[in-house]
Amino acid sequence: MRVAVVSDIHANLHAFEAVLADIDRESPDELWCLGDVVGYGPRPNECCALVRERTNVVLCGNHDLAVIGSLDLGEFSGDAATAARWTSAVLEDDHRAWLSGLRPAETREHAELFHASPRDPVWDYVLSKQVALQSLHLTQAPVVLVGHSHVALAVATAGGDEVSGGLAPGGTEVELTARRWLLNPGSVGQPRDGDAKTAWLLVDFKSDRAGFRRVAYDVDATQAEIRAAGLPDSLAGRLAHGL
Ligand code: ZN
Repeated sequence: MRVAVVSDIHANLHAFEAVLADIDRESPDELWCLGDVVGYGPRPNECCALVRERTNVVLCGNHDLAVIGSLDLGEFSGDAATAARWTSAVLEDDHRAWLSGLRPAETREHAELFHASPRDPVWDYVLSKQVALQSLHLTQAPVVLVGHSHVALAVATAGGDEVSGGLAPGGTEVELTARRWLLNPGSVGQPRDGDAKTAWLLVDFKSDRAGFRRVAYDVDATQAEIRAAGLPDSLAGRLAHGL
């Protein structure tokens, strides 16, 4: 089975549409989303509709939970809280009900999926080899998929404390055989690894390979929508730099 994995769409419709067009060229068997469909960005209803239409598995993330009122906004930064309040006000009831039924962790054949990490599926950031190794120790599947940090990552262990890998820029290809892997596809809607292009991951469980993809999209269009919605200007500015 070949699976496209996306995460942290954050209501950036232009980025998500560019990713979907790239995914469609590969014709994967399934599409999995690791959560944070909404929050930060200007098109939450359209992104919810597309995720519901296109994905086979969807997790909820901390922003999704905040928007539906299941998380305290006190845990959020100022801009994130402002955007969560705005999203909550414009989100259609049908999408709110759908988000309420999602969980932050799921298991599939050959893979365990978490929005954040196995240590804490909602809040933990996997940004170091040591935290990645701890996450691999807490799981059994050959492939562990996480989002949340908005940084594409590929870390492997052959057992014990042996650990290798790290950042996974666009074009990175990994062999999944012999070792267990923790993979983060990076973020569709708000990349934070210095590459402004939108991100997704293709995992081929049959040939045991995974490939990290980046795609250019219309950043200007999303920035204009953020400003037109009256969302914090910093949320538009950072998209140009991938930070
Ligand atoms: Zn996120």
